[in-house]
Amino acid sequence: MITGLLMLEENHKYLETVSSFAWKLKEKTSYPSKLILFNFQFDFNKYFNDFKYYLENYSSYLSCWDKIVNFKISFDSSDFYIPNVITKILTEDMKLDSLKLDKSQFIISPANIIFSEVIPYIGTKCNGSIISQAEDINEDLTFVSSIFGGKVLALTNPLNKPVFITIKSYSNTIPNKEKNNEYEEIEIKLNNDFYDLILIERIKTETAIKLEDAKIVISGGRGLGSKEGFELLKELANLLGGAVGASRAAVDSGWTDPQYQIGQTGKTVSPELYIAIGISGASQHIAGMNKSKFIIAVNTDPEAPIFKYSHFGIVDDYKNFLKEFINILSAYK
Ligand SMILES: Cc1cc2nc3c(=O)[nH]c(=O)nc-3n(C[C@H](O)[C@H](O)[C@H](O)COP(=O)(O)OP(=O)(O)OC[C@H]3O[C@@H](n4cnc5c(N)ncnc54)[C@H](O)[C@@H]3O)c2cc1C
Repeated sequence: MITGLLMLEENHKYLETVSSFAWKLKEKTSYPSKLILFNFQFDFNKYFNDFKYYLENYSSYLSCWDKIVNFKISFDSSDFYIPNVITKILTEDMKLDSLKLDKSQFIISPANIIFSEVIPYIGTKCNGSIISQAEDINEDLTFVSSIFGGKVLALTNPLNKPVFITIKSYSNTIPNKEKNNEYEEIEIKLNNDFYDLILIERIKTETAIKLEDAKIVISGGRGLGSKEGFELLKELANLLGGAVGASRAAVDSGWTDPQYQIGQTGKTVSPELYIAIGISGASQHIAGMNKSKFIIAVNTDPEAPIFKYSHFGIVDDYKNFLKEFINILSAYK
């Protein structure tokens, strides 16, 4: 059995990632495996009472699962910490037959902020193997993950079953089968006794669009030269409906906050369009954005390594580029 773990939100990126990886894994394994998806749905989710919305709107990704189990989780307080809740449901509610993870050969989840915390805990509890940030799988069932900021590709061969895998970003074709999956809904009502971690405070950040979910990301680096450069990036982001990211050099210079850092020690993004402005293309930065579908780089140095990774390059002072681009876009608004 291959089990997927997900917490579906508005963005279907993680659904696509987990579904396509699970499908490829099924194709690579020689034994017939059943695909089962566990979705954790919290009561703050807009579609809490209507998961069928997902089933209908994202059927192309969901149809590859033989069974979907949707956990509808509600609380009597707001102090919960999501990774803690999911971990406890998976480890303590094992009496639910469908939750017996050790019946699975492979458990797949996105390498996002939630499951990167959940997987090491439950993986160790089940005495399984853990593969973090996988990017691909080979014929011989070895897994490919990039390490050391993308400088090295690691090939791992998991010895213990079940194998817990977090997937950095993966998208491949999944067959759009007829929708004939089994669907089960399990309601879980939690009270304060359930948690052993209490959330003290939620601090709202400035960005309107979450960096990880944005379809367009415009990132600035040391080449912007000042905090004012980031104001121009925000203007462009508003016009394009995107989010602003940064290199570590820009964060270290105090021009923007650490939560916008992209890279090995920052966030991983895979938008449709990534615009790198005044960023040289150090491997630690590339590690956080190299799965973007289309990359544009703007840099005064024609030899800047970022051009090796970009689909389109502009050798110019970023101010010229931004001025022109913002003018053109404003004219169309
Ligand atoms: C353990 C470790 C972890 C790290 N993690 C991260 C990470 O998560 N994310 C990250 O980004 N970095 C990370 N780094 C740092 C990384 O190695 C680089 O130092 C950093 O990415 C460089 O940022 P930059 O490209 O903005 O600056 P630089 O390398 O200084 O590049 C600036 C670029 O701007 C160009 N430029 C200058 N003026 C202009 C202009 N007017 N118009 C257009 N272009 C111009 C220059 O030609 C140059 O290419 C990490 C480093 C280590 C050791």
